[in-house]
Amino acid sequence: MNNDIREAAEWVRHSERLLVFTGAGISAESGIPTFRDDDGFWREFPPERFATWDGLFKTALHQPRAFAEFVHAVIAPIAAAEPNAAHRAIADAERHVDVTVVTQNIDRLHWEAGTTTTHEVHGSMFEIVDRRRRFRRYVSRQQLRRVATAIERASRGLLTLPRVMWAVRRIAGIGVRGIHFPNLVLFGDALAEPAWSASRRAAEQVDCVIQVGCSGMVYPAATLPEIARAQGATVIDVDPHSGQGDIWLRGTATQIVPELMNTAFAPR
Ligand code: NAD
Repeated sequence: MNNDIREAAEWVRHSERLLVFTGAGISAESGIPTFRDDDGFWREFPPERFATWDGLFKTALHQPRAFAEFVHAVIAPIAAAEPNAAHRAIADAERHVDVTVVTQNIDRLHWEAGTTTTHEVHGSMFEIVDRRRRFRRYVSRQQLRRVATAIERASRGLLTLPRVMWAVRRIAGIGVRGIHFPNLVLFGDALAEPAWSASRRAAEQVDCVIQVGCSGMVYPAATLPEIARAQGATVIDVDPHSGQGDIWLRGTATQIVPELMNTAFAPR
């Protein structure tokens, strides 16, 4: 076993409160691609057209096929995903230590793995809201799968805006309560509340942070480990490509996280 894992495991083992902060990388091995990595989601779907509500609205209006391809590319992998060994190891750690999970992901995989407290600071693909976010309803993974299938069917013919809107009507469109759409944080939006305030409070109280699959480039979420570090917490990074923490465990989420938790909580 690598010495860094041993050292990191000691910090985890002796922590009273643990913050696990996750980004797209933790779900890569559940089949959901990250946006920033080489296979570059952003290259195919440039953020200025696809990562703001205004850009998305204009794309839907003028290029319904591109809009449909984007929605499909986002939801189809999420609809098919299951928690992986890293999500499960984090949920299991609750048997040993007080764990708060803060995720930038919208895929609900921490909940499904059994984590009790997950703050979703970038919202959720499964929560449908109205414009003022007063009305909320939830869709299941199976319903997301149906939307993905409806888009695939519609894409076989001439893809007009009404056809796209019909295909995605379960998650976005205009209904009796006005417009509805997934509760997501896009570029330029404030982070989801009360999740972000609760995450900041948690960061101030933990003695150890495990950061998994985060590029550290998505702000303001990326400030969270720094908030914890300023209070004296040790930051452990799990990522195959980069690490900014006190200890960088270089590898994928499923290679590292289960081993880290097993080492930390093995009976002695
Ligand atoms: P990010 O900050 O989430 O970066 C992804 C990081 O994951 C990179 O540092 C990369 O090196 C790392 N990584 C890649 N494969 C990994 C693996 N197998 N194990 C561990 N780490 C791995 O940035 P992003 O991908 O550009 O995402 C932008 C925003 O969109 C983020 O808020 C992200 O959470 C969100 N997003 C969510 C999902 C999801 O819900 N699953 C998927 C894509 C993007």
